[in-house]
Amino acid sequence: MIKTVNLNNTKISYLPTTQFIPQSLITEDKPYFIELEVSTKEDVRLQDKKITDQIVERISPFGGHSTLISKNRSQRPQPDEQNIKADNTDIQNCLFDNIDKVAKPIVEYPEYEVYQAPNPFAFNTGYHEIIFTKEHVEKLDQIQYKHIFGIFSVMVKRAQYLSGIAGINQVSAGLNLGTAKMKYSAGASQPHLHAQIGAVYQTGYLPDSDRIENVCSEFEKVGIDYMQKYFEAVITARLDIFESKNFFVFAPFAPRFKDEIHIVSKTTEFSNLTMVNSKQIQEISDLIIKVFKAYTKMKFPNKEGNMVNVGIDSLNIEFLGNRFDSKSKGRLFIKIMPRQSDLAYSELLGRFVVDRYPETTAEAIRNETSTK
Ligand SMILES: [Zn+2]
Repeated sequence: MIKTVNLNNTKISYLPTTQFIPQSLITEDKPYFIELEVSTKEDVRLQDKKITDQIVERISPFGGHSTLISKNRSQRPQPDEQNIKADNTDIQNCLFDNIDKVAKPIVEYPEYEVYQAPNPFAFNTGYHEIIFTKEHVEKLDQIQYKHIFGIFSVMVKRAQYLSGIAGINQVSAGLNLGTAKMKYSAGASQPHLHAQIGAVYQTGYLPDSDRIENVCSEFEKVGIDYMQKYFEAVITARLDIFESKNFFVFAPFAPRFKDEIHIVSKTTEFSNLTMVNSKQIQEISDLIIKVFKAYTKMKFPNKEGNMVNVGIDSLNIEFLGNRFDSKSKGRLFIKIMPRQSDLAYSELLGRFVVDRYPETTAEAIRNETSTK
């Protein structure tokens, strides 16, 4: 359930001992979320039409960012789409199809149809590898189960390898689709599906991952299984989408990106990438493909009221887990983040802005996947 409270007459409580993170998940018997409603008091007019947008603010149950949901923003004027359309990507220019030009040593995994190579332009500390498909895969609707399964399998192997190196305590792992040439970039420089995996040392920090772990362990101290309460609230808020044997799939209460989807392990049995075997890799790859298929089919009304496809061609997936030696075992946390908007000043301050409720996304994906 989600309770809407007025920002002006609400006293926000705080997470135990994490005093600077306001609490948005109320962990009572029947857990629920709180969103803050903020309505404009000024008389705002646009061409004689009164604007009465209502914005809600949702603070991430794990802290770190807040999400402002403003449905009116989907109506705002956009610059001429033609002028900012993506360049046509030229397969000749794709580095990953010219293996001679890729940094060495390259490891080929014929059984997974993927390559692994070092990133000579690293942003991770000590180790940074790229895993990419043999086949040139550029668009969301070209991605098949075997591509995700192949990349993910090698990613897990590399995580297991890195976990055995002294000092390395967790990994930074993610998947990119969509290049800087496209309108909304996922940060990749190559128009070819690939993943990155890098080392995070004991003394290093992976903000998103470490924050989830910290919040969960603070609640553990007061006898509360925060993730369990979070799942319960997700279900009563109808943010749940589907589940498999070991994993839940849902839309997060406070998404950073429109149509963001999370996949989280149901138990602490799988708390990071090193703990999954080929069976769970299959299970997760299936779930990811199911979400991708729904993305390619999902339609919403545009400004003129016509149903149009969301047209996702740029996305990131983050694979978060606990530190390898973590005592408070958490869950493997996979975040699928379509990149349909630019990051502007608000996001840089930690306040993300979306124009679609995650409940709406959850319902659309449930509809797309239940009939198939
Ligand atoms: Zn390519």
